[in-house]
Amino acid sequence: MHFFHIFAGITTYRIMAETEKVHCLIVGSGPAGYTAAIYASRAGLNPVLYQGLQPGGQLTITTEVENYPGYPDGIMGPQMMIDFEKQAQRMGADIRWGLATKVDLSQRPFKVEIDEEKWIETDALIIATGASAKWLGLPSEQRLNGHGVSACAVCDGFFFKGQDVAIVGAGDTACEEALYLSKICSNVHMLIRRDEMRASKVMQDRVLKTANINVHWNTDTVEVLGENKVDGIKVLNNKTNEESIIPVKAFFVAIGHEPNSVLFKGILDMDEAGYLITKAGSSKTNIEGVFACGDVQDKIYRQAVTAAGSGCMAALDAERYLGALGH
Ligand code: NDP
Repeated sequence: MHFFHIFAGITTYRIMAETEKVHCLIVGSGPAGYTAAIYASRAGLNPVLYQGLQPGGQLTITTEVENYPGYPDGIMGPQMMIDFEKQAQRMGADIRWGLATKVDLSQRPFKVEIDEEKWIETDALIIATGASAKWLGLPSEQRLNGHGVSACAVCDGFFFKGQDVAIVGAGDTACEEALYLSKICSNVHMLIRRDEMRASKVMQDRVLKTANINVHWNTDTVEVLGENKVDGIKVLNNKTNEESIIPVKAFFVAIGHEPNSVLFKGILDMDEAGYLITKAGSSKTNIEGVFACGDVQDKIYRQAVTAAGSGCMAALDAERYLGALGH
């Protein structure tokens, strides 16, 4: 009994000691989160940003980025995120390691638990937790990731100009990316596991009418071939059980993304795939004072530059919200 009281006392002390109040909290550290931090800092909101499991986000697993304006010679994705972070820090953002593990948005200030051990109270919350590409789960796919295996044709297709490539997936993203690749690469092999596509009719028609897109129906990917770079794909026709090899220099995976929104399930409005819903033309969620930006609320564009733009919107929306509250 005595022990319990001491223990309970320590626990209470810990909870009290580990709660911190901030003005503006940003969770997530891709281009959206860092841009929100830059704008929020310059607006005097003293933002605190928690980086999450993968500081820098999806760009830290890409190689060269050539389509972000302002880098005429291109830049490596991880370096770009270091630059974003430095800029946010220089503006005064308080950037910290840590993962949001729980939220309570039922009252103000909002409460966000970090690493299951500390609570942050905040007047405004900016969610920039991003999305994660889904992968097939093959060891060879993981080993050659960044060396010819990519989950973003728009980011990496250009490196395979004039070469043969493969793409797996049959949704709108896979169609869009296959069409994009068809303009750059010699031949695009599209690997589809069923005998039909999930994509919208218009996208399917475009793909099927494109001469250099070669659709392989009923086809499973068995292995990505190559030592240090992709040399080909071993595939299986799941109707005939025949294995074959398609020689390609790159393998694009377009089987969908998962928004990192599980923390907000049942709290914030989201679509059936889990993307947070923001009010058109803004970063506002269904809870006033909670804003969402970047890939966690964007299943269409998913580019670094669009994520950064929406991060700017979230900071400006937060600034206006806090200003109206008289903060
Ligand atoms: P989807 O979930 O729509 O499609 C995923 C595709 O990947 C499906 O064809 C699925 O096959 C296939 N797939 C999943 N797992 C595997 C696997 N292990 N092996 C092989 N194939 C697999 O994802 P998208 O990213 O394409 O689209 C997401 C949402 O965004 C959709 O609502 C889409 O309409 C929308 N979107 C809209 C765009 C636009 O309007 N311009 C552009 C891009 C996306 P199967 O069909 O057999 O399940």
